[in-house]
Amino acid sequence: MEAGEDCCVKVAVHVRPLIADEKLQGCKDCVTVVAGKPQVQIGTHSFTFDHVYGSTGSPSNAMFEECVAPLVDGLFQGYNATVLAYGQTGSGKTYTMGTGFKDGCQTGIVPQVMNVLFEKIGTLKHQIDFQLHVSFIEILKEEVRDLLDPSSMSKSDTANGHAGKMNSPGKPPIQIRETSSGVITLAGSTEVSVTTQKEMAACLEQGSLSRATGSTNMNNQSSRSHAIFTITLEQMRKPNVPSDSCLNGTMNDEYLCAKLHLVDLAGSERAKRTGSDGLRFKEGVHINKGLLALGNVISALGDEKKRKEGVHVPYRDSKLTRLLQDSLGGNSRTVMIACISPADINAEETLNTLKYANRAR
Ligand code: ADP
Ligand code: MG
Repeated sequence: MEAGEDCCVKVAVHVRPLIADEKLQGCKDCVTVVAGKPQVQIGTHSFTFDHVYGSTGSPSNAMFEECVAPLVDGLFQGYNATVLAYGQTGSGKTYTMGTGFKDGCQTGIVPQVMNVLFEKIGTLKHQIDFQLHVSFIEILKEEVRDLLDPSSMSKSDTANGHAGKMNSPGKPPIQIRETSSGVITLAGSTEVSVTTQKEMAACLEQGSLSRATGSTNMNNQSSRSHAIFTITLEQMRKPNVPSDSCLNGTMNDEYLCAKLHLVDLAGSERAKRTGSDGLRFKEGVHINKGLLALGNVISALGDEKKRKEGVHVPYRDSKLTRLLQDSLGGNSRTVMIACISPADINAEETLNTLKYANRAR
């Protein structure tokens, strides 16, 4: 990491255009992106972030190039990284991440990560042996669900309406563990070894479908769960390659391992909006638990004074932050992309999102 650039959390805002449905309802655009500045205005409020991407003005791949590509480069140097999409349901998180498989699959962040990852591997593979693993999980109600579980796929059309939702019966629940060296592992989740971009894309597709299957049966569960697509990159320098000869000096070590988490967070709308029956309210509370803990962790990490004083970072307050612990803070790099709708009917939630994101800076 560059000197002076050690603030490990960057925050970007992505304003989507008005969608057809909002136009039909007669919604007005109430969000202004200030030209030439990473600044966004709503009503009398004005916020400045590291980057702001509107529906016009910025080239379509600017967000990827500025926010995510450096994290993929860092992966080759052994730095863990996390990209988080935050925002209310319908604000464009899944579209932005490209984890929906249907929309934005070609242009979203995850597919673009795969492009640059495999391109880079192609240029380095004569000197380095690579091993790639992918996992894709979902956290709902503080429980981890394996989206790549092969046995749950075949049961996806059982009649009880819980299709694809539960982990396979008899399988122990997935557990988040920490090794003595501080590496976080997910015991019991499927880790798929992939060698080609096609294989990796198939994992994305399979997991996205598994998530969607759950959601149609369970009151759009996907808006209440966090989906985490994780790529683990292991590098072994080939024995006949001297230590100083690798391209861009990425590989002075014999062995490096780093992971990139690509996170499509649960909708940030408040519990009061998720319904009044007890069950759904509880889910709302749990979701807020993850988002609340995330906000606290990122805010603690972003505060240099607090960091120097060694203030406690509350990773253990939720499954989400526990799972991301070794990839948030420390030497790792984090980008939060706050997704917002420009429609006036969403103004209140948009303001909440901007406030949350502002706190993360
Ligand atoms: P979320 O995952 O936050 O609930 P989605 O990603 O599903 O939101 O987006 C909601 C709707 O808005 C979808 O129909 C999607 O296609 C559309 N949308 C989101 N972002 C954009 C964008 N940048 N450009 C065009 N349409 C978008
Ligand atoms: Mg979504």
